[in-house]
Amino acid sequence: MLSAQPADGAVKVNVADGFDFPVGKPDAAGYYKARGLRLRSPRHFGEDWNGRGGGDSDLGDPVYSCADGVVSFAHDVRQGWGNVVLIRHAYRDPTSGQVKFIDSLYGHLDKMMVKTGQGVKRGQQVGTIGTNRGMYPAHLHFEMRHNITIGMARSGVPADLKNWADPTQFITKYRRLKREWRGVAVPTGTYNEYAGFKGL
Ligand SMILES: [Zn+2]
Repeated sequence: MLSAQPADGAVKVNVADGFDFPVGKPDAAGYYKARGLRLRSPRHFGEDWNGRGGGDSDLGDPVYSCADGVVSFAHDVRQGWGNVVLIRHAYRDPTSGQVKFIDSLYGHLDKMMVKTGQGVKRGQQVGTIGTNRGMYPAHLHFEMRHNITIGMARSGVPADLKNWADPTQFITKYRRLKREWRGVAVPTGTYNEYAGFKGL
């Protein structure tokens, strides 16, 4: 499915045949959304998914890629984030017929199971639910971004629905897409430097 990722450029991925929830695959069975997207202050740029068992009962539970794509970032950025995986997806908007890109972000992971540049399939495990070194009760922080230049450099990016998607709305809308047999090139190396990021 994938060739090796150049430092900058493009990598071929499958066009997503749909999007699923990142926990309790494919429908988030056994989980609830403790916090949703909120683009006004106090801001929350994604969704927090918790196990119905409460507390840290979901610690170590699997986290899945919401669709086919390529890992665009997989590092421990510490601070409030801990282990973060970003995955870039291509999908065809059925309304416009255009191929679009979107990044999904999986934060506070206990373990990361993928590396930057690696191709992933819909429903493939990419990590486990964590606490960011005990900073939070175990949960998954999950974002989806239309703007594929954000990466970990969120400051200065307007908090609006041009840049971020409401994950549940997006997944519900694009649950089932037509399978396409030809891959498309997605851009890589689009992230700006991040002050707190000492990876790579
Ligand atoms: Zn969160």
